[in-house]
Amino acid sequence: MSFLPNILYQNLKRYFGYNDFRPRQKEVLRYLFAGNDLVAILPTGSGKSLCYQLPATCLSGLVVVVSPLISLMKDQVDSLRSRGIGATYINSSLNWSKQQKRLKGIVQGAYNIIYIAPERFESDLFLEKLSKVEVALFAVDEAHCISEWGHDFRPSYLKLAEVRKKLGNPRLIALTATATPEVREDIIKGLDLKDFKLLIKGFERRNLYLEVKMVENELRKKEELLQILTYNSLPAIVYVGTRSRVEEIIAFLEDKFSVIGYHGGMNPYERRKAQDSFMAGNYDIVIATNAFGMGVDKSDIRLVVHYELPGTLEAYYQEIGRAGRDGFASKCILLYQREDSDLREFFIDSDYPPKDIVEEVYSFLLSKDQDEVELDLNQLYLQLRSLPSRLTLEASLRLLRKEGYLKRISSKSQEATYQILKRVEPRELEIDYLKLESLKENKYQKLVELKGYIGTKECRHQYVLNYFGDEELLNYCPGCDNCDELNQTRVITKELGVLVQKILSCVIKLGGRFGVTTVAKVLIGSKSKKLLGRGLDKVSTYGIVDNFSYEEIIKITEELVEAKYLKKNKGRYPTVQITKAGYKILHQPYNLDWNLVREDQEINNLTNQARIKLLKRLKDLRATLSKEFNQAPFIIAHDKTLEELVKRIPSNRAEMLKVKGFGEVTYRRYGEPFLRVIKEFLEAEPKLERIETPIYLDGTYEQTFNLYQAGLSLEEIAEERGLAVGTVIDHLSKLIESGAEIDIKRFISAIQLEEIRAAIAKVGYSSLKVVKEAVDEEIDYNKIRLVVASYKKEFMSN
Ligand code: ADP
Repeated sequence: MSFLPNILYQNLKRYFGYNDFRPRQKEVLRYLFAGNDLVAILPTGSGKSLCYQLPATCLSGLVVVVSPLISLMKDQVDSLRSRGIGATYINSSLNWSKQQKRLKGIVQGAYNIIYIAPERFESDLFLEKLSKVEVALFAVDEAHCISEWGHDFRPSYLKLAEVRKKLGNPRLIALTATATPEVREDIIKGLDLKDFKLLIKGFERRNLYLEVKMVENELRKKEELLQILTYNSLPAIVYVGTRSRVEEIIAFLEDKFSVIGYHGGMNPYERRKAQDSFMAGNYDIVIATNAFGMGVDKSDIRLVVHYELPGTLEAYYQEIGRAGRDGFASKCILLYQREDSDLREFFIDSDYPPKDIVEEVYSFLLSKDQDEVELDLNQLYLQLRSLPSRLTLEASLRLLRKEGYLKRISSKSQEATYQILKRVEPRELEIDYLKLESLKENKYQKLVELKGYIGTKECRHQYVLNYFGDEELLNYCPGCDNCDELNQTRVITKELGVLVQKILSCVIKLGGRFGVTTVAKVLIGSKSKKLLGRGLDKVSTYGIVDNFSYEEIIKITEELVEAKYLKKNKGRYPTVQITKAGYKILHQPYNLDWNLVREDQEINNLTNQARIKLLKRLKDLRATLSKEFNQAPFIIAHDKTLEELVKRIPSNRAEMLKVKGFGEVTYRRYGEPFLRVIKEFLEAEPKLERIETPIYLDGTYEQTFNLYQAGLSLEEIAEERGLAVGTVIDHLSKLIESGAEIDIKRFISAIQLEEIRAAIAKVGYSSLKVVKEAVDEEIDYNKIRLVVASYKKEFMSN
């Protein structure tokens, strides 16, 4: 691909003050300056505007930007002007004479770039005048507005292909953040693009943590919201579905946080004020409907919570895109209860009224003889019994208006006056019900896709990328709840490693003749009749696990099957067998493939006792704070958070903020007292013992020890390790002496043990030979060595 003209770099710095392009900007500009038309589908925040603003500084003709965002035009133009770029806009917010004045200026070449609302092109006169100017670039911003499938369809966009022709076919760039296949096709078709480049990139959001939280009911949802806001960094946007919800959630939160609301029902001035105020950092949280967001340029939003379902997956993606624009880690949490999607289905149904309902509403209007009909919508709804909901009534009226049968003259909450424009037989209404049906289907489809995201067990990031057609493949998950869960179950701790060995050896012992549940039962030492009846309590791995539950063992065993260390045979009673790979890892469970993440290293050197003490102190403090602030203890800190504090013993704010559960707000409120308690505790406990790594945890000894723990016999350990039994005895003796817990009764009968100990008590242990001579002939040296080791250990520790 060609290089970018130097002038672009210079002007980037000169007019915008940026030192370099964002990667996608470079790509877009390269295509443009190589003479291509281009559809650029790039996520919000990737710097799309610059892609048509910068060319305005060096192209010889005018850059015409079509934008539906009337409310933002002024800001954009002001900002360009302040940078020294000749810019202006024309939209319905200007009166006629102002529009004319600006148009004149445009024709005279006073500007480099102009923003036009699409509706302006409906005027032939306007277009006529504009066509006198040399247009170098025709930029269609928010190009998804061309699509009826998009979330904000603007019919005037459909004329843009024609407009472009009238303007002399300048180079075209269409930009949007909406990347669904149907929208993409509509853009290409609608703008009549033939030879063009398509760029879909950058939908990965590596700094966002994605999470879906299922809740059972509304109450839990509120609690969950409270916790989320308490434990995470702010500022936050909480998206809700309706205006009344905005009010409700504000009422719920306002005594705990600094919150402000934003919704479409507020007048433009109030909205503007709320938005500015939030952007200026006067509030930590904005509770908003989806009206909030366009033009929000606040880069440090740390959290976006969806209290109710977003419209579609792409709307969701757009909305969460407001988090973390500065590139720092931020969280996006969607709260979901089943009823949410039922409600959405209800809305969809209401939005697309069926033929008979539309006809009924229309007949009713006709039945009033005058052309102007005053309606009380509530009453009408009650009167027309077949209406499934009031929303259906409103949708029917909307539809009749849209199709030119009605005009709304005035409306005041419940009441509205309509004028009947056309009178026809209700059956003859020219309404494309088939099309309505397909729009409805599409909405349903969107909901299904959204539910797909909610319910997926895959990596949420990858799911979204696949959905958008972004070709980027993630080679790791930047952070989502699904991958976390996976990691958690796959953390290999020492304990888990030993369990794996025990499971594998139990499977071997059972000769592949039993299923997962029997393996688990044997390991926990179940007393079930079936098990005892088969004599499985005699197997050497019987009852050797006591630190994992039956269910946990089953879960890990299933994972071992999935990871192909075990094999499940097909059939009515699927038995498990060890595989070659399983044999291989039998002595080295720490190298399992699924060992993706190791458990967090402990950062402190507290003894167990000290930990317990510190945890107690922290809990006491929490109780005190809970009373003082009149907050439930879990709002102040979860048990898990306290445990984490004990693990990390933070000594300052920065370290504290790394502790899961301590966000900015929590820290501001309770951080200091916690730090103080930790500090005082550490000062009072000067003799902190280091946790020594016992020698037996090293290398060859460790392997022997693991096999011992897995329940193998001496001979089996020797075989597995490829060592002589004598060497294994040597290892075990050393392990015993260095403090490893080894139960020698597994290798020696109680009678023999007693006999050896008695002999040692009599003759001492300095000579094995002497001990050997003092016991029964059947007792061999190996057994004597083990008992001597344990005797020594006991003797030394007394
Ligand atoms: P989009 O339209 O894709 O959502 P914007 O055009 O609004 O994105 O740009 C998002 C932000 O990125 C703006 O604050 C803009 O000033 C900034 N920005 C754009 N290009 C660059 C750049 N090359 N270097 C640094 N910041 C940039």
